[in-house]
Amino acid sequence: MATQTLTEGPVGFLGGTFDPLHLGHLRIALEVAQQLGIADMRLLPNYLPPHRQKPLLSAEKRLAVLSKALESCPELSLDLSEWQAVEQGEAQAGYTVDSLRRLRKQLGNRPLVFVVGDDAFAAIDSWKEYQVLPELCHLVVATRPGYCLPAGSVAAQWLEQYAPQPADTFSNRAAGTVQRCEVTALDISATQIRELLAAGKSVRYLVPESVLALLEEK
Ligand code: ATP
Repeated sequence: MATQTLTEGPVGFLGGTFDPLHLGHLRIALEVAQQLGIADMRLLPNYLPPHRQKPLLSAEKRLAVLSKALESCPELSLDLSEWQAVEQGEAQAGYTVDSLRRLRKQLGNRPLVFVVGDDAFAAIDSWKEYQVLPELCHLVVATRPGYCLPAGSVAAQWLEQYAPQPADTFSNRAAGTVQRCEVTALDISATQIRELLAAGKSVRYLVPESVLALLEEK
């Protein structure tokens, strides 16, 4: 009997602005990877064109912080495909659906797992072409303190509609499931870090120690 051959194991992506990266990001990426058996987990920063730049961190600084932090985290890597596509003018903006199509081309039929936090997932129906996302990837929703999915929302509906069946695993399906993953609650946000930095206060223990100096330099 012919079975579908998936070339290799799943590849996971945590997409984000990382303005800046904090321990919440690193911890959810690591925990999702460990819980769901994803050996290749990548952080996928989006490049914001200069006119959309947030006030505190430049694109270069966001990238420098990511690179430095990942030096001491061999379980995670950096995927610059979306960043480069926008920077080189191949894509106008870093929409997730465009990135996933690009990644899908690169990965063939390898399982592709896109990780989002509760807050991002709650607004999934505001994303460009959101209806096609389950055709392109599996979605894993990491729990985030302070957020819940409103009953009746598209997000809540998707968790039922695309719930993995007992026979579904990341090694036999390339895309198409949506599930939650309970992770350690870390109530840290990039907004909070930007506010602390702007007020001249320390962000120690909220971000990796290795990037403290980079973030706190004037
Ligand atoms: P901001 O405060 O600027 O909105 P953020 O802290 O949410 O930023 P993003 O880069 O926007 O960081 O987040 C990237 C992804 O990581 C999103 O899917 C978000 O939901 C998730 N995420 C970020 N922080 C946490 C956290 N502490 N717990 C769970 N998920 C998180």
